[in-house]
Amino acid sequence: AIEISSLNKWYGDHHVLRDVTLDIYEGEIMVICGPSGSGKSTLIRSLNHLEEYQDGHVAIFGQPLARDRRSDRLIHNTMGMVFQSFNLFPHLTVLQNCTLGLTWLKKMPDQAAEKFALTLLDRVGIAHLASRYPGQISGGQQQRVAISRSLAMEPKIMLFDEPTSALDPEMVKEVLDVMMDLSKTGMTMVCVTHEMQFARQVADRVVFMADGEIVEVGPPEQVLVNPEWDRTKDFLQHVL
Ligand code: ATP
Ligand code: MG
Repeated sequence: AIEISSLNKWYGDHHVLRDVTLDIYEGEIMVICGPSGSGKSTLIRSLNHLEEYQDGHVAIFGQPLARDRRSDRLIHNTMGMVFQSFNLFPHLTVLQNCTLGLTWLKKMPDQAAEKFALTLLDRVGIAHLASRYPGQISGGQQQRVAISRSLAMEPKIMLFDEPTSALDPEMVKEVLDVMMDLSKTGMTMVCVTHEMQFARQVADRVVFMADGEIVEVGPPEQVLVNPEWDRTKDFLQHVL
């Protein structure tokens, strides 16, 4: 689904992605972990035009991605992204947050958009909150709205950048459960997360990054239980 080859990115003379090469298969659940500043966000943001990069190639379902931030219909139609901060529109209701893309971008009639959005909100267990505003629901609920809003655009690939790290501990599970359900639908998912329990249970493969490089990649039992490299071992001792 995603082919990344020899991707390099610099901020000035700071080399933040070093020759990153990685293929992510259709339907695969890929977890990316690694210390702060290792380039995890930069990598996944490079996949959907939120970051430019200077060297290398990315292809999404065989289609090469432009290196600059040129608007690219392919990306907007195939990828959804969920961030640490939920980025909901505060002046729109939960339902309106989810229907906006459908009515504006997909030109879906209002009624059909509402019906579809409600089925998605129901799937993540919050249809009853449809008429609330983001400020009137919990962080975990807001993140579930953000996931529903992304899913409304029917992406083929979902990118998650630390979706639970801004949440109070008791809300983490409800969001991870939604991601776990999603992983069973055949969705291709790339998740930056430090939730190692989730990685072990759900990931097909885990990538460990350090200093802009992929240090280790493989099935969770290999990377998380039996890492080859000292840097991976050190990191795991800190997060587990
Ligand atoms: P974290 O776990 O803290 O989210 P990360 O692995 O996601 O870290 P990135 O955000 O990808 O790391 O950052 C990689 C490196 O690039 C860091 O050293 C960071 O300081 C640097 N960096 C990120 N954004 C910029 C920017 N806009 N300008 C300059 N340097 C940047
Ligand atoms: Mg980050």
